[in-house]
Amino acid sequence: MSSAGMLVGMATLTESSGAAKRAAEKLTALFRQRTPRSAELAREAKSLLPSGIAHDSRYLEPYSIYVERAAGSRKWDVDGNEYVDYAGGHGALLLGHNPPAVVEAVNRQLALGTHFGTNHPLELRWARLIQQLMPSAERVRFTASGTEATLLALRLARAFTGRSKVVRFLGHFHGWHDHMAFGVTSHFDGTPTPGVLPELAHEILLARPNDIAGVEALLARGDVAAVIIEPTGGSWGQTPIVPEFVGALREATTRHGALLILDEVITGFRCSPGGAQQVLGVTPDLTTLAKIVAGGLPGGAVVGRREVLDLLDFAASAQAGREKVGHQGTFNANPLSAAAGIATIEIVAQTDACARANDYAARLREALQRVVRDEQLPWVVYGTYSGFHIFTNPDRLPVTAADIEAGRVDYQVLKRVDRQTSFLLRLGMLAHGVEIFSWPGGPTSSVHNGEDLQRTVEAFRATVQALRE
Ligand code: PLP
Repeated sequence: MSSAGMLVGMATLTESSGAAKRAAEKLTALFRQRTPRSAELAREAKSLLPSGIAHDSRYLEPYSIYVERAAGSRKWDVDGNEYVDYAGGHGALLLGHNPPAVVEAVNRQLALGTHFGTNHPLELRWARLIQQLMPSAERVRFTASGTEATLLALRLARAFTGRSKVVRFLGHFHGWHDHMAFGVTSHFDGTPTPGVLPELAHEILLARPNDIAGVEALLARGDVAAVIIEPTGGSWGQTPIVPEFVGALREATTRHGALLILDEVITGFRCSPGGAQQVLGVTPDLTTLAKIVAGGLPGGAVVGRREVLDLLDFAASAQAGREKVGHQGTFNANPLSAAAGIATIEIVAQTDACARANDYAARLREALQRVVRDEQLPWVVYGTYSGFHIFTNPDRLPVTAADIEAGRVDYQVLKRVDRQTSFLLRLGMLAHGVEIFSWPGGPTSSVHNGEDLQRTVEAFRATVQALRE
């Protein structure tokens, strides 16, 4: 699909108003017809919740589905429609919905208590398992989310190095706290998004992905506490990082006395049982975890070198004669999340769950790309490990999945999602019984099977053909 001559069709959906309108109306009508109860709830939601939602990624026009229950790779909405699910609990559900061992562990814990306001034995088992799969985790501090984990990691890095600046990569997502709220999908010039202090934004140095010379120049300033990165690329590989770059970062940060933080909120226990760091052979100073680590319940952690995590330790700090780094959180190491996390990580450790999810994603990417080729679209389906991305290529660039994976396509090009095409693709997929994530794309699980694949490909083809008309 690298020949520009083949790139015909829907790239211009947003431009060619007549055809675009008709395609949009047809898919929207089909979606509305199937989802009257969701429409009703969405109307009510708009009077309660901004945009009727609880997370920006869940925004869809005219509205999205309301889901009542889920099992394995499927879920069912309030109108009784069944979907193959690629929202995957925002990536938390490597094992699919409600794996029996996780349900049993959570139910057992539910009856015993949901919050003791003190230590409990499960947090030890949980930390030990993390450490066994991720040897860089010499110490573990639990948080309640991935956002909290990256916030704490930055605080630790600054306290440890006595430096203030943090290097972050353009297009990489690390949660929604103020340090991370610009340069992800917009504000690539480093200016703050509304509500974020300019003084704080000033402490973040945005670097181009895969540009080691650029990072070296920033590190040479001597005031960089840490470099944080999504190790397979921004937004889970939507803007890929080439594997050698992470190794180069390890070397450069060590040389300049800065910490390397791998944000493995998505990749941890997913790319492999030991996360991206195992596959890449890189030992970070700190790793941030969430999603799979808590088995589909809320939770996260900062793990890493003992002397850095010791900044949180009362005795170690007193002994070193320094003020300890503070950290609280009502739901840190919550017993229910611990129970779910343990059951999940045990399965990850003892089975080929990661490999199965990776394998399914590879087959899915190939099958979807075949549809793209058959339909002569300029789109590119790409991704690594257990994820897939659909680049709708609005400018019809002659690029392949290999070009994207090799970092030859600029992050801004890949991030420039054509909103209308993306919404229509998602609506069309929903109308044909498949939910994909907002990238557009999604994570796969260890329980997606051949029938899911077939349904997904059929839904994709039907959607694409409806859009083409
Ligand atoms: N870091 C990465 C790489 C993420 O993908 C996310 C969430 O998707 C976060 C951090 C934030 O995690 P949470 O949504 O649990 O706050």
